[in-house]
Amino acid sequence: MHRSLQGDPKEVTLVKKASGWYAHISCELPDTPKVEPTDAIAVDVGTTHYLTTSEGEKEDNPRWYRQAEGLLRKHSKDLSRKKKGSQRWQKQKHKLALHHERTTNKRKDFIGKLVYKLYHHQKNNVLVAEDLRVSNMIQNKHLSKSISDASWVTFFEWCASIAERDGLHFHQVDPKNTSQTCSACGQKSQKKLSLAIRTFNCQFCGTSLDRDHNAALNILLRAACAHRGERWVTNLTETRNLSVDR
Ligand SMILES: [Zn+2]
Repeated sequence: MHRSLQGDPKEVTLVKKASGWYAHISCELPDTPKVEPTDAIAVDVGTTHYLTTSEGEKEDNPRWYRQAEGLLRKHSKDLSRKKKGSQRWQKQKHKLALHHERTTNKRKDFIGKLVYKLYHHQKNNVLVAEDLRVSNMIQNKHLSKSISDASWVTFFEWCASIAERDGLHFHQVDPKNTSQTCSACGQKSQKKLSLAIRTFNCQFCGTSLDRDHNAALNILLRAACAHRGERWVTNLTETRNLSVDR
């Protein structure tokens, strides 16, 4: 065991993976009381970058991402060339399964560190993201690649489970038009902004912002509408009023 157990172990599941057998031990932990929500950040997930925050910071797509896609294609192609059931086919099948397992591990590692950074390193106790379930999944800009598909689902699950474990807050909002609306004046762009246009220029108030930064701000504002009265919303209003005064 590489980690000591927390809480009372309730269930053990044996799992066979390509690299060997693993025992999953589920433990019951007492509920962590929620901290007072004081500092919030929102993220917009995308394809040019992994995500952009409402502070305008960007997290790059991990480099192994594309490499893993390429290797996946190569291993699958090699498998299709071998006689089904043969020893070489079995060997290749194992290679492909190992590749899947390694990719899943790298993804989990990357996402775990990223979520930890957003909450703990940056000292936020409220994290807001879009709710992809309510958007049109097929036309969605994020769902063009198999690895990214699984990645967003895992990312949102981690955001929720770390919030649960550490007593933090995670909110998801309807992402409709978040990239088409001006975060400064709230007006919706008259012409649909194509994905190629990376800067949002508001024709009403003249605001010019990085496209994903603008979307992340809209995501934050949507959550703020739903959580009026919480301290982070009050802080946010104060910050925005201060920046207007300047
Ligand atoms: Zn505007």
